[in-house]
This record gives sequence, structure tokens and C-alpha cells, in this order.
Amino acid sequence: MPAMGFYTDTSVCIGCKACQVACHQWNDLPAELAEQPAPDGSQPGKPRPLTGNSYDNTGSLSDVNWRHVKFIEKSRLPDGRVSYRPTDAGRDGLEWLMMSDVCKHCVNAPCLEVCPTGAIIRTEFDSVYIQEPVCNGCRACVAACPFGVIHMGGTANQGKGTAKKCTLCYDRLQHGLVPACAQACPTASIQFGPIDELRQRAEQRLQQLHAQGITNARLYGHDDTILGGLNAFYLLLDEPEVYGLPSNPKLPSRSVPSTSLWSLASAILMGLAGIVSFRKRRMDRFATETRADEEVAQ
Ligand code: SF4
Ligand code: SF4
Repeated sequence: MPAMGFYTDTSVCIGCKACQVACHQWNDLPAELAEQPAPDGSQPGKPRPLTGNSYDNTGSLSDVNWRHVKFIEKSRLPDGRVSYRPTDAGRDGLEWLMMSDVCKHCVNAPCLEVCPTGAIIRTEFDSVYIQEPVCNGCRACVAACPFGVIHMGGTANQGKGTAKKCTLCYDRLQHGLVPACAQACPTASIQFGPIDELRQRAEQRLQQLHAQGITNARLYGHDDTILGGLNAFYLLLDEPEVYGLPSNPKLPSRSVPSTSLWSLASAILMGLAGIVSFRKRRMDRFATETRADEEVAQ
């Protein structure tokens, strides 16, 4: 089975959020409410207040939002600087950068590396899947993911919940179906297929955009430089950080050698300090005893 995944071309995303809705619908994910409905159904619950941030009222990925369409408002300020904040005064030349964010199904996945129970596995499609019944709610994966994808949800593990995120529609793939989000996207911004094929398609699209003078276009996560490759990679129209994507995310194990060296150096210094202190105490005691002997002799 070849590695399967997503190529998301943000240059054709129209921000319709069909992908987000399809994900909710297929995975039976509830709405994110400010207040939950009464258990007996007498009160409907309260919707979340609007964020006031462009047309994005979801805010971020969460335990119930496994896809999130970002709206980034890019404009020029009167002094010529570029603004990405809808609240800046005097903005002109507004353009929206839209991006449907999701789990990146990293080839070297930090979440999978740190999970102590083996709840996070790699599937036959090369996707990263959380087996919720095996999750003990420790949150190690939440801290390890450099993209802020994983969130805890539900009431299992004495209320700590279990880790939740996009499954790459594992249940649909097992039956030969395309993931619900890709199926719903009306502009083919989200394309699903074998990763090798998607990479070729993305390279061609990049060349086409560059030939049209859109020199800001770039690919993110299409090769092995970011965590061995992202099985959900992107064509972006600005720096990755503008979209909230880190340029150079690290695997937790990459920081182990430097951390170990610092620990070793600290241990050596502590040992040396102990020897010096011990010698000093012995010298002080010897001097005191010598003085006492001299006083007795006098
Ligand atoms: S692949 Fe499935 S679970 Fe993942 S974002 Fe798309 S619809 Fe949601
Ligand atoms: S990725 Fe597709 S479905 Fe999602 S918001 Fe963009 S155009 Fe709509």
C-alpha cells in the first residue's frame, strides 16, 4: 500500500468550510458550545460568542474540530507595512489567505514517538491514528505535537479524557472511500491520493503559479526536510509562520543528545564542587586541631 495523504493548495481555497462541516458530519463530532445542553434536553446549550477575527469563528483545531479553516487578513498599512491583523486601522488592499488546517500525519511523528501506551499507531496507509481505548489521558502527545493538532476530549480516564484528532478517515479508507473533507471540497483545494503522485502535482502547480508571477507561492512539508515529510502537505502563498506553521519543527528525540550533554556537564561540575568543598572542610579541621595541639603544648 503506498503512503496516502493530502495535498492542500491554499491558492484555490475559497473559505467555504465545506471540509470542516463534512468532517463534523462524518465523524459525528458535536458543535463547540459555550455551555453544554442540559442532560434532560430541557436547555439547548449556548453557542460560542463570535471571535471578531475575520470570518473565523472556530478559532483553532480542537477535540471536536479536526479540521479548521483559517482566515488570515493580509493588507497594507498607510506606512507601507504589511498587516495580518483585522483590528489594524487604515488597512488597504485586503486579501484573504485561507487554509484548511488538519493533522499533518508526519512521517516521523512526535506524538507517536512519545506515547507511553502505544495508543498512537501508524496505519497501512502511513497515516497516524489514535486508538482511543488504549489512551490513558497523559497528554504527552499534546505537548509533543509542534502543530497544536491534538486535544483532549470526552470523559474517559476519570475525566481526563482521551487524545483526539483527524483519523485521515481511516474507516472510509478501509472501504476504498476518499476522506469526507476531500470529497466535499468544491475547488479541489484538498486533494487526496498517493503521496508521490500528489508531490508531482504540487510541483507542477508551483511552477504554474511562479510562471504567472505569483512568486510568494511555496510548498510546505512536501519533502523530507520537515519531520521526514508531511503526509498532509501544503502549497502556501506566504511564509509558513503567517499560517501558524513552524518553519523547522523538531522531534523530541532530537533534543535528547544536547540535553544529555548539559546533564553530564552539570554532573561533572557538581562532583568537582563536592570534592573542593570536602577538601576545604578537611583543611579547616586540620588547622583547628593543629592550633588546639599548639595551645595545649604551650
Ligand atoms: S480525513 Fe476525515 S477525520 Fe481527517 S479532517 Fe478529513 S474528514 Fe476529518
Ligand atoms: S479547503 Fe475546500 S472545502 Fe475547505 S474551505 Fe477551502 S474550498 Fe472550502
